[in-house]
Amino acid sequence: GAGAASSTIQLDIEPKHLSITKTTKPGALRKPEELVFGQTFTANSGLLPDHMLTVEWDKDNGWAAPKISPYQNLSLDPASCVFHYAFECFEGMKAYKDKSGQVRLFRPDKNMERLNKSATRIALPSFGAPAVIDLISQFAKLESRFIPDQKGYSLYLRPTMIGTQKTLGVGAPGSALLFVIASPVGPYYPTGFKAITLEATDYAVRAWPGGVGDKKLGANYAPCIVPQREAMSRGFQQNLWLFGEEGYVTEVGTMNMFVAMVDKRSGKKQLVTAPLDGTILEGVTRDSVLALARERLAPEGWEVVERKYTMQELYDASHEGRLIEAFGAGTAAIVSPVRSIHWKGENVQCGLHEHEESGEIASKMKNWIEEIQYGDIEHEWSYKC
Ligand code: PMP
Repeated sequence: GAGAASSTIQLDIEPKHLSITKTTKPGALRKPEELVFGQTFTANSGLLPDHMLTVEWDKDNGWAAPKISPYQNLSLDPASCVFHYAFECFEGMKAYKDKSGQVRLFRPDKNMERLNKSATRIALPSFGAPAVIDLISQFAKLESRFIPDQKGYSLYLRPTMIGTQKTLGVGAPGSALLFVIASPVGPYYPTGFKAITLEATDYAVRAWPGGVGDKKLGANYAPCIVPQREAMSRGFQQNLWLFGEEGYVTEVGTMNMFVAMVDKRSGKKQLVTAPLDGTILEGVTRDSVLALARERLAPEGWEVVERKYTMQELYDASHEGRLIEAFGAGTAAIVSPVRSIHWKGENVQCGLHEHEESGEIASKMKNWIEEIQYGDIEHEWSYKC
């Protein structure tokens, strides 16, 4: 009740209390063509901007004053709970530069909403999304020299929250750290789309009903590497996560999966993706593809459907000539066209002709989303820093 000792007033994150300590050793810049996603970060490699954003939290005082400081190591006690019980969640988003040099974010409210959901699921604190969007935009603007001003390039931003409580007891962390680091990135497909081949993974499960697969927890990602590497060792670029005896199609690697096919019963063209039933990450790109499809493809006769669908359905559609195209959707590549899915000893073809690297919908979506991200057209999804 009111005045109870437990109801301490907690401070929210306050952008107006931000302190900025600029580096005295500004780093070198890489040539845009040298920027490849996922490279090793080393000091002054041109792959890391000069600064990082940090905000500390503890249960008695709430959020402390935010800081932008020179990029540096974290110093954590080995008993910090993040190392033992995986109190960690993160986001992946990008800052883009438009033709006039203005730095923009893409739907940052969606990333912050998702980070709050991830954090609260693992007993980490929540925060006011507008405050963190404000801080991230100040950070992105400060590092804007690291954002190449060419289409396809951006500054990848990695907001992260960890539990820092020093204890081996399993409990809610009494202290936490929110930090944001960044890395300039080039286009995922520098020479245009390259359709990928997939292996359907049926021996391992990424997410399950009642689990946390719909949250962006670090703990969801480490176990995915071995199945991913297995698929690669057999010559496939990514794995496709199936679920259950029915073989429901869920996600592709770390992207949401979309398929365009002609519905067997109605004969209508459908763009299908799995529903947000708790086993699917709520992708910002997924949501954007759905919204654009409803706005721009539905009038052309497409049905846009969130429903469960199985690998057997894709197999049948492929063999009956009803599978039009398939693609993954995520921040890194926007869309990633799929050529085939290896399943039960067969490469199930996903609608592309032999020399075709993308279907029409994937190409359109990439263009539509990019023109919003780079401010070529004004749209409410683009946030000016
Ligand atoms: N699914 C998974 C499992 C992911 O890790 C990601 C990347 N965040 C996505 C889908 C795509 O989400 P977004 O469009 O927000 O990048």
